[in-house]
Amino acid sequence: MNKSAISLSRITKSFGSTQVLKEISLDVMPGEVLVLIGASGSGKSTVLRIMSGLEHADGGEIWVNDVPLHDSKRSREICGHVGMVFQQFNLFPHKTALGNVTLALIKAQKMPESEANKRGMAALERVGLAERANHYPAQLSGGQQQRVAIARALAVEPKIMFFDEATSALDPELVGEVMEVMRSLARDGMTMVVVTHEMGFARKTADRVVFMDQGIIAEQGSPEQLFVNPQNPRTQQFLSRVL
Ligand code: ADP
Ligand code: MG
Repeated sequence: MNKSAISLSRITKSFGSTQVLKEISLDVMPGEVLVLIGASGSGKSTVLRIMSGLEHADGGEIWVNDVPLHDSKRSREICGHVGMVFQQFNLFPHKTALGNVTLALIKAQKMPESEANKRGMAALERVGLAERANHYPAQLSGGQQQRVAIARALAVEPKIMFFDEATSALDPELVGEVMEVMRSLARDGMTMVVVTHEMGFARKTADRVVFMDQGIIAEQGSPEQLFVNPQNPRTQQFLSRVL
């Protein structure tokens, strides 16, 4: 039996009187790379935030790594099972790359510093930045800073990684190195949910592409299906604007 890494069933979410998610149902399988695309305001970030436990759904059920996130008493159990990377890197400027990567391990997980450093170095190695471990954020390029943020997320050894427009704040020439790290995680079998405007990444790396439109999943399929032969006029319209 194949068991989902993430399972959303009829998830709803409103902010004030605006319903931003309208009964979203979606399963992500272990090792799957799911790319969420859609216009600004369609609800992509809200879905990611709910999946990662940062936000509570109003209704529906959501299971992530067997943790029922809809159960507020148990939703905190997800911490440490998932990693999240945002558009803004949010590194502490007065801490080195390694210091940023190990902070949560030492403070939240109470890991001994020597062990945290070992894990942190392995994570920096994973993103190709071991030799920059003692550099401060200001001494790193934007692409390197975002790779440190990815290493920080990886250091907790998450089973799932979420990326919310991880390359949107980067100068164009720095996008590639971050995408390459994401691609290598995908190749290694990491379960990933990725919100991106990089349609090249979606085409090449996604196992499945989900198109969101005004709080619903309007269409989903393989990159081939979605990009070459979209069925929904809204998908066609969106793609004609971004491709
Ligand atoms: P996307 O990531 O696809 O651009 P979001 O999930 O960020 O979309 O937002 C979906 C809708 O929900 C938007 O209309 C946005 O303005 C609204 N929204 C998101 N977060 C909040 C919030 N914390 N408070 C009020 N409205 C919000
Ligand atoms: Mg967003």
